[in-house]
Amino acid sequence: MIVVVSESASAHDKEMIRIYLRDRGFVIREQTLGEDEIIGASGKGVADIRELSLLPGVMRVAATSKPYELASRETKGEDTIVTVGKEGFVKIGGSRITIIAGPCAVESKEQIMETAAHVRESGGVILRGGAFKPRTSPYAFQGLGMQGLEYMKAAGEAFGLPIVTEVVSPELALRMKDLTDMFQIGARNMQNFELLKKVGSLGMPVLLKRGPSATIEEWLLSAEYLLASGTKDVILCERGIRTFETYTRNTLDISAIPVVKALSHLPVIVDPSHAVGIRAKVAPAALAAIAAGADGLTVEVHPRPGEALSDGPQSLYPEQFERLMRDIEALAPVVGKELLRTPRPGAVPRGLVPPVWTAGEDAGGAPPAELPAAFSGESGAFAEQALMRIFGEEAPRLGVPSFRAVFDAVLDGTAGFGVMPVENSLAGSIHENYDLFLRYPDIAIVGELKLRIVHCLIGDEKASLENISIVRSHPQGFAQCREFLDKHPNWQLEACNDTATAVASIAREGATKVAAIAGEAAAKAHGLKVLRTGIETNPLNYTRFVIISRRNGGKVPAPPGLDLDKPNKASMVFSVSDEPGSLFACLKILSERGINLSKLESRPIQGRPWEYLFYVDVSIPHTEAAFEEAVVELRTKTRDFHFLGSYRASL
Ligand code: PEP
Ligand code: MN
Repeated sequence: MIVVVSESASAHDKEMIRIYLRDRGFVIREQTLGEDEIIGASGKGVADIRELSLLPGVMRVAATSKPYELASRETKGEDTIVTVGKEGFVKIGGSRITIIAGPCAVESKEQIMETAAHVRESGGVILRGGAFKPRTSPYAFQGLGMQGLEYMKAAGEAFGLPIVTEVVSPELALRMKDLTDMFQIGARNMQNFELLKKVGSLGMPVLLKRGPSATIEEWLLSAEYLLASGTKDVILCERGIRTFETYTRNTLDISAIPVVKALSHLPVIVDPSHAVGIRAKVAPAALAAIAAGADGLTVEVHPRPGEALSDGPQSLYPEQFERLMRDIEALAPVVGKELLRTPRPGAVPRGLVPPVWTAGEDAGGAPPAELPAAFSGESGAFAEQALMRIFGEEAPRLGVPSFRAVFDAVLDGTAGFGVMPVENSLAGSIHENYDLFLRYPDIAIVGELKLRIVHCLIGDEKASLENISIVRSHPQGFAQCREFLDKHPNWQLEACNDTATAVASIAREGATKVAAIAGEAAAKAHGLKVLRTGIETNPLNYTRFVIISRRNGGKVPAPPGLDLDKPNKASMVFSVSDEPGSLFACLKILSERGINLSKLESRPIQGRPWEYLFYVDVSIPHTEAAFEEAVVELRTKTRDFHFLGSYRASL
């Protein structure tokens, strides 16, 4: 806090100001700045600025620190990631987008069960629903109370969805705590401090809605109440504020998202339903929220909105919710995130590769969770980013020096899974990695992920664009930033094994005239500065990574967090005899069964000049039997047939 003392202040006035501040726990330091005499107050003191302003001799008072501490980014730099539910895979925050959906209110057991089924089917991961409804009118439907919560719990359990529900009083918080996975504090109760203290003291995750007329600071102070009372897990929810505009129910404050993400480490989600209040406007507002950096959404969905007992006009039909989920999935990589999906319980990839892990004496299930997933490169590599997107930020991981070493680590059981780049949207297939599959027939593809690649020019703290003479990166990094590099013809380019290795070498050498082209995460991991961001020529720059695993007796395990229940894509490699129509005969097997070919590429067979292998990706149709038949027939019509794996395609 800074107190500017007025020119007319007496020695006694100044002494009274000092005493006032010291009594309230501040440490003070005085100095003159130009004409002004200033008393600076720091430390953990608490004072009422208005009261201080009224003291004789005070000209002006300015706050210099934030009134909230536990919620502040200054206190905790990294993002808080909140786990919801006992299973542990539903998380909010970090690099994922988490979708909460369900009706405004629980109306009956059938209604919440039916809605939960739709939510689950479309990819929502948390079920919402009010059992206690704070309604503007006392005559409106008030919710089913504890009975409604019992129905919600049953629906959540039936469909593998953790639940969130609103709590309206401290007494109810205690009665509800064993029935819900997360509490919601409604907009109207954001400043009900007794409620905040009680709910915070239970130590469970809390979704805190922003009050309709609350400033961002007031909202963060309410979060501070929860954090100070005992919970670490608070999610902030922007749900529209009161403005002069009456067309929409409230005004969605999109700008609050980047503002709060900078001020606080807590996850920020958006409720587009209560913000706009009109069904047709929910999806555009939802997508805008994701584009602005929201960590997720809470959306109202009802199987028959026309019959809803509350908020029908803003509730989405299940088909609209499904469409919104698909759009979010497509948008997620643009903002550098991944839509979180719930694996189906006991997920069994159908058909060819059921999940069984038999390492030594342990038979069945997936590889032990403590086994790391392997990637090639140093910390901050794009492959590590992809790995964290798939397995979570906290997952154990192992950086190895080459792509081949990733296969080795998975094969010898040092790693449970591996993450490999196989294709870039601009530069095409990474053939050396594809070829590894042929040398490692015991390794299978079990999943894929597409990661948007944003390149940065990275250098030492003291480096600047003007004094750089050498740039290091992977050749792909140079190729993807060609236009930017062309503007600096004097720079000498040095190729490295991968982009993060280039960054690490600069950090090791402390070089100030060398820069690297790599991702922002590599700069962070090695304590270097981003000199320029977004230097890739084409912003639509994506790399496709595959997740690999070891087959045990022809079977592969399902990676945790990935939905392998219904694989919709498969990859295979084969060669054909050198005679007319042999490739055509293979493709005919697929086309006759309505199987879509999404990729076909030929590669020379090493050691057999002018003979080729075909790399084929196909979409698995709903009629899986037809697909299995096609594979059986392909085996008979081809040579060197390798089935690389079946998995869920990433958009
Ligand atoms: C709700 O989410 O059901 C609700 C009542 O929202 P809000 O508190 O934001 O009005
Ligand atoms: Mn509602």
